[in-house]
Amino acid sequence: MDLARFPREFLGHLPTALEAAPRISDALGKARVWLKRDDCTGLAGGGNKTRKLEFLMADALAQDADVILTQGAVQSNHARQTAAAAAKYNLPCHVLLEDRTESTDDNHLHNGNVLLDNLFGAQITRHAKGADMAAAMAAAAESLTQYKKPYLIPGGGSNAIGALGYVNAAFELVYQANQQGLKIDCIVHATGSCGTQAGLVAGLWAMNANIPVLGISVRHPRAKQAESVLQLARATASLLGLNGDELPAERVWVNSDYVGEGYGFPADSTLAAIRQTAMLEGVLLDPVYSGKGMAGLMGCISQAAGGEGADVFCKGKNVVFIHTGGAQALPAYKDYF
Ligand SMILES: *Cc1c(COP(=O)(O)O)cnc(C)c1O
Repeated sequence: MDLARFPREFLGHLPTALEAAPRISDALGKARVWLKRDDCTGLAGGGNKTRKLEFLMADALAQDADVILTQGAVQSNHARQTAAAAAKYNLPCHVLLEDRTESTDDNHLHNGNVLLDNLFGAQITRHAKGADMAAAMAAAAESLTQYKKPYLIPGGGSNAIGALGYVNAAFELVYQANQQGLKIDCIVHATGSCGTQAGLVAGLWAMNANIPVLGISVRHPRAKQAESVLQLARATASLLGLNGDELPAERVWVNSDYVGEGYGFPADSTLAAIRQTAMLEGVLLDPVYSGKGMAGLMGCISQAAGGEGADVFCKGKNVVFIHTGGAQALPAYKDYF
């Protein structure tokens, strides 16, 4: 299974570290927790979108794109990393930001990722909550008549090309685990636009590694999220040259118990997970994604009985949390802390 036949730009600091989280593990007292540090991918402060952008930006360059467009919520980490990648290749970048939380807080609207989007020279347009962002992006591309070849990156960089970045992460993680003699019983991470989980699931399936991947939803209910992840995992497997339709639905685990009020609103469990991880490991999580992901991991380990695959969180097991990044949004959430 080679990825080398896909165009790729080596944007990230890879491989990212796979390290133990001994104090979190001891505090929970059951499965051991490991951190895969995809918050440290290098570009623009790091995060999971950098892996996707390695393949997406390479595709854009292969198509002679002369402008990059993408979209996300106001505090999108994806927009930040895309703006940085575009800057690196001297391509103009337009980011469309949806006001998904309808926050009027100045920090939410202008600090954190928005400040960084500006620093990377992105052109920002703002859109009301619930706007059809894919349609808005297509319309924006049409209107930018000064460019010959716009390249549109979907929200979160989540299409089959972007998901190749997490196929690569699956290969990388299994290789590291093999080197360290670490038997991984479950992988856990925050899932939003689905590309991270889809790529991991497709990559693990492609190499016949039977490690379950549990996505902690930050937005949608479980059934909807699981279906979207499965569809993208199958498309990604097909892009790899496999028969994606054969990828079993059981490979996708989703838990949506940690969403709280909704996308972009940290729940009490989110804030607790952020504080605990900071105090126990000196590691920064974020209020939109990785804080919810860690709250889910901590909740699953604490309960460690009942429910789908709960035995993987018991004593003697090893759980890898993919730290997908996002701490650059913390200043935008100042009032919560
Ligand atoms: C985008 C993002 C996620 C979710 O990844 P998807 O591929 O969109 O599901 C998780 N954590 C952080 C910090 C993100 O920015």
